[in-house]
Parts: sequence; C-alpha cells; structure tokens
Amino acid sequence: MEVVHDHPHADTETIYSAVRNGLPDVSRQAVYDVLNALTSVGLIRRIQPLGSVARYESRVGDNHHHLVCRSCGVIADIDCAVGDTPCLTPSDDNNVLDGFVLDEAEVIYWGLCPNCSSVVP
Ligand SMILES: [Zn+2]
Ligand SMILES: [Zn+2]
Repeated sequence: MEVVHDHPHADTETIYSAVRNGLPDVSRQAVYDVLNALTSVGLIRRIQPLGSVARYESRVGDNHHHLVCRSCGVIADIDCAVGDTPCLTPSDDNNVLDGFVLDEAEVIYWGLCPNCSSVVP
C-alpha cells in the first residue's frame, strides 16, 4: 500500500522491487496477491492503458483520468473535466444499459508528454 502510494502508476515489477527493498524475502506471488486484494476492495486502482502492463495507484475515488504518452508511456493524472461521474449515466433513461450496474468510467487521453513532444520537429 505504502509502495503504491509512493510510486503512482507503477507497474507490478516496479512495485515488487520496491517492496523487496524493505522485505527481501517477499515472493512475487505474494506481491501480486496483495495488489489484487487491495484492488478488489478498492484501496488501490488498477489502470491498464492499451499496450501497457497494468499499473497501480492509491489515488482512488476521485474519478480522475489519465494522460498517456504514446512515445515513452509515461502516465500523468488529470482531474475529471466535468466534476462528478457524468460518464456513468450515459443513457440510463433509455434503458440501454441492459441491467449493467456501472461503477467506473475510464477515460485515457493519448498524446505526447513534454519531453517527447519537444524532440518532435
Ligand atoms: Zn513521452
Ligand atoms: Zn492516476
């Protein structure tokens, strides 16, 4: 939990090696299991941009979105542009949700980070 908090958007490998700094005997499986458990109770959030490995973060419950750099894959947080969770009530009235109960809408903005865009001519 602490490691995820200190390494926002870290992948499993990064988290695993950071945990091992404090707990040299921890197994990879144990780290996976804890990440899965924390994700399922909602203490951390798993994000997985297309073509990327799963990342974890401890910033949950505020409906923020992510900017992902197409070039180097860096991930940045961006606050939801329109407040609460408007994307979660798409067409409720028309009953097209077909019984689905939504709890999250994931928005990912793709582009180039400042580092990568500055090397583009
Ligand atoms: Zn970049
Ligand atoms: Zn985030």
